[in-house]
Amino acid sequence: MTCFVCLDIISGPAYICETCLDFVLHKSCAELPPEIRRDAFHPHPLRFTVGNLIVCDQCAILQACLISYSCMYCMFNLDFKCAMAISNYYKLPTHEALQKRRQIKTTIHHFSHNHQLTRSKFSCLTKEEKNGFQRLWGQEKFKCKACKQKLHDTQIYTCIPCRFVIHESCVNEMPRQVLQSPFHSQHILFPRPIPKGPSYTCSACKEEVKGIGFYCNQCDVTVHVSCAKYQTRAIKHDCHPHQLLHLGKSILSKISCNACHKDCDNSFFGCIKCDFYIHVECIPLPPRVEHRRHLHPLVLKNSFVEDDSGDYYCDMCETERNPEHRIYFCEECTYIAHIDCVHPKVKPAEEMFLDQRTKKNSDKAEIIDKMMELEEILVHNGKVSFNLYNT
Ligand SMILES: [Zn+2]
Ligand SMILES: [Zn+2]
Ligand SMILES: [Zn+2]
Ligand SMILES: [Zn+2]
Ligand SMILES: [Zn+2]
Ligand SMILES: [Zn+2]
Ligand SMILES: [Zn+2]
Ligand SMILES: [Zn+2]
Repeated sequence: MTCFVCLDIISGPAYICETCLDFVLHKSCAELPPEIRRDAFHPHPLRFTVGNLIVCDQCAILQACLISYSCMYCMFNLDFKCAMAISNYYKLPTHEALQKRRQIKTTIHHFSHNHQLTRSKFSCLTKEEKNGFQRLWGQEKFKCKACKQKLHDTQIYTCIPCRFVIHESCVNEMPRQVLQSPFHSQHILFPRPIPKGPSYTCSACKEEVKGIGFYCNQCDVTVHVSCAKYQTRAIKHDCHPHQLLHLGKSILSKISCNACHKDCDNSFFGCIKCDFYIHVECIPLPPRVEHRRHLHPLVLKNSFVEDDSGDYYCDMCETERNPEHRIYFCEECTYIAHIDCVHPKVKPAEEMFLDQRTKKNSDKAEIIDKMMELEEILVHNGKVSFNLYNT
């Protein structure tokens, strides 16, 4: 049996509810003071509070407290265990101890949120703790607002009233702008807090953006932080008139291939505007190719992670690659290459744009030539002349 207040196993004298029989309290927990006064620790009295989400000012842990002690006048909270330690601590905490505490619980202002964020730790050990936490946190998902990943045993920043949480690392690594997001390459995207109320749909993954997003103020386009930073390549292939992006399940899931109608898994090509998605194999791409840049045949392979460095490169073009994406691979040499670096039918889309640009320029040159010819004829005939502006 565990104590309803401190959740520790009952031992020694305890109180039990005769009707419920499963409501038990340690004698010491049942006799908790309604108020703690430790002027040297905190200048105001701390009141007994039931059911509260706090970042404890002593241990800096974000937690759902059945019992906590909270200041009526300022935002000062202690979880049950820390409150008991202080309440039973008759000597004054040393100056160093207080300094140390201040270093742990700090607040910052960050452009990802409109309110002050509190730095804290989060770690739920048992299932009951997790459930208790989720009950108080509410239906808002307890996930990092930037990377959408779970938060566990890491340093986080939180704004409890807004149910806003974000990894400390995501705060530190958040760019001030995204220059050429694959999902909105024409303009710069800027981070901004997403106001509550109207819902914003991510232009990349079509899911709702909450908390913070990257925004184009010219087009009213919003994308998730993780989507804005998604590492991908734009390619061109005969199977679709527009450029295709190499995508993976961290961007889109539960979609099906336009060719074989089976689910698209980890690695596929897609045109989000047209809702066109196709497996790499359904394009179709050969499972095995020879390439002049590599001695051995290259094999089409599922995502491959050679180490845990977090940085992955294509050995052919020596630019970054997304470990989520399918690649051409030589096992003998651990040689890895982008699909569009190996297969001639899959062209990098940038090259396509380049082709179009040079084509446009040559078209223009042709027109200018024609006009000059025309001008010559006109001048020659002595009737009329006009100035040609080389725009
Ligand atoms: Zn604490
Ligand atoms: Zn994160
Ligand atoms: Zn807030
Ligand atoms: Zn998204
Ligand atoms: Zn735009
Ligand atoms: Zn398919
Ligand atoms: Zn399209
Ligand atoms: Zn490459």
